[in-house]
Amino acid sequence: MGEMSALSELCQQIVICRKCETLAKDRIQVVPGDGAEGADIMFIGEAPGWHEDQQGRPFVGPAGQYLDKLIASISLKREQVYITNVIKCRPQGNRDPLPAEILACRNWLEGQIELIRPKIVVTLGRYSMALFFPGKSISKIHGTAQKQDDVIYYAMYHPAAALHQQGLRQTIETDMLKIPSLLAQVETVPAVKQQPEQLNMFEV
Ligand code: URA
Repeated sequence: MGEMSALSELCQQIVICRKCETLAKDRIQVVPGDGAEGADIMFIGEAPGWHEDQQGRPFVGPAGQYLDKLIASISLKREQVYITNVIKCRPQGNRDPLPAEILACRNWLEGQIELIRPKIVVTLGRYSMALFFPGKSISKIHGTAQKQDDVIYYAMYHPAAALHQQGLRQTIETDMLKIPSLLAQVETVPAVKQQPEQLNMFEV
């Protein structure tokens, strides 16, 4: 067997994690994430659902098929980006992740971000947004970006929400289409750190 990448090693650790007793007991598979190690774009969803738990891969159910289409709309394939979730195990009945679970899983996500070093982190949905845009509301900040330590954080609605609410479809599709120009502007996006709330945000 050849040398394993640091990211593969991290994912190997993630799949044997038992920090959350309930999640570890109820899961079929851990869903660490997948995609390109050197991806410019990293999508972070909420938690694996039924299909993901079965397959051990993120976003492979209906929401995933829609995400694939959104990714294709910016002329990329999912193999060219990295896709993961805030928590790596499926909560039974698709309940919301608990604060303790999000906290327990946070190191894994931080490790992934450090190793992949994406240019842009796209948060999908409220739980993912809350990690990087604490205290913000998705209806206000979707489609806006913030740069921190040379990484752009960009908030979008969750594809599952857009699937179920026709009105959000246009919004999520428009927000996705802003990503290529954001990437192209990476160097010119102002770095704002420790600024008062409102000043931290800007429109693209
Ligand atoms: N929803 C998510 O948030 N993540 C997945 O992997 C699938 C559905």
